[in-house]
Amino acid sequence: MDCDVLVIGAGIHGAGVAQAAAAAGYRTLLLEQYAQPAAGSSSRSSKLVHGGLRYLESAQFRLVRECLVERERLLHNAPHLVTLTPFHIPVYRHTRRRAWQIRLGLSLYALLGGKGFQQLPVSAWPGLDGLRTDNLDAVFRYYDAQTDDAQLTRAVLASATMLGAEIRYQCRVERVVCDTDQCSVACQGNDTGGEISTRVLVNAAGPWVNRVLERTEPLARSLEIDLVQGAHLVIPGRLSQGMYYLEAPQDGRAVFVMPWKDHILLGTTESLFTGNPEEVRPLDSETSYLLEVYNHYFAQTLAAAQVIDAFAGLRVLPRTDHAAFHRSRDTLLHVDRDHCPQVLSIYGGKLTSYRATAEKVIRQLAPWLPSRQRQADTRTLRLP
Ligand SMILES: Cc1cc2nc3c(=O)[nH]c(=O)nc-3n(C[C@H](O)[C@H](O)[C@H](O)COP(=O)(O)OP(=O)(O)OC[C@H]3O[C@@H](n4cnc5c(N)ncnc54)[C@H](O)[C@@H]3O)c2cc1C
Repeated sequence: MDCDVLVIGAGIHGAGVAQAAAAAGYRTLLLEQYAQPAAGSSSRSSKLVHGGLRYLESAQFRLVRECLVERERLLHNAPHLVTLTPFHIPVYRHTRRRAWQIRLGLSLYALLGGKGFQQLPVSAWPGLDGLRTDNLDAVFRYYDAQTDDAQLTRAVLASATMLGAEIRYQCRVERVVCDTDQCSVACQGNDTGGEISTRVLVNAAGPWVNRVLERTEPLARSLEIDLVQGAHLVIPGRLSQGMYYLEAPQDGRAVFVMPWKDHILLGTTESLFTGNPEEVRPLDSETSYLLEVYNHYFAQTLAAAQVIDAFAGLRVLPRTDHAAFHRSRDTLLHVDRDHCPQVLSIYGGKLTSYRATAEKVIRQLAPWLPSRQRQADTRTLRLP
């Protein structure tokens, strides 16, 4: 098969790029190593479609603004998949961030495209799902959105297919050989479908991004990254009031407690990961950390034996000396060469901003692709 754009990986970024490429009229093929989509980080996220309030602390205003714009688009284009949800931030006598700081952050968030906020009256506190009220100074409520990340990925892939993209599962890319005009790609698996050649290749392999680059000839440059795992626990209980945005007493990190499929989802952690991405699993220390946060803030205490399910995903973060929590969450688009790029790799990124990232990828590659007839605009395209 000859295509214009070949995408590796059926996570949210691969799905988004396939959709954006097909919408722009390009002949598009996506290859995924597993039998189903979203088998990597895109089913193990915190499932938030959000601006990222906490990124204001590290002055990532452009990222927050972009994510808030994309959140609004998703609420409009996929109302069956993305739901606006109240978030609560309790401020206690001992929490590091004071009420005035939260108020300032939420005001800025509203200015950047958030939906406003309120401080709850003391009379509302007993209704907050068993949140402890001793030493509680204030509770703020604002709005962000929640989704099912794997379902969102499947919907974007379905949209890409409707626009003409082809998707092949169980096709692990093992070798990419590029000459001056095109790259030929060899797959291992059930559905290799013969010879594949492409004008450009988009490496959306998530935590496997550098493993894919290691298989290119000539060898494409890669960026130095850390894989940082984040674990979530599914615990018994129901939340009637929405989400809780808590400050971990151990280290001041943000931990979310959210409603999830008739249970409660609790996450996340940050632990450096050095193994094979296929083998990422929650650690006992992460389970203890998360339960400690939950038990600190909620009246109902839980033990590890009561955990219903647990999963972990991998963030791709640029390697720096900073702790993972403080590193940039910007998406990096990295090309094998500036003139006439053939391999573009996506590093990092957010579920929320997948569409904006995908459109940037296509804009960056468009000068080197044949001209085609645009079919749709992803800004307004409804997801199936
Ligand atoms: C713990 C955690 C919590 C997060 N929470 C949020 C959140 O609440 N909100 C938010 O906006 N973002 C969040 N994120 C970020 C977001 O989830 C990720 O940025 C996003 O899911 C990454 O998607 P991806 O498509 O790049 O990678 P992945 O979803 O990992 O997809 C990569 C795909 O490539 C495939 N692949 C790899 N190698 C090959 C090969 N050789 N051949 C074929 N296929 C291959 C893999 O099988 C996989 O399906 C979170 C991330 C983590 C880790």
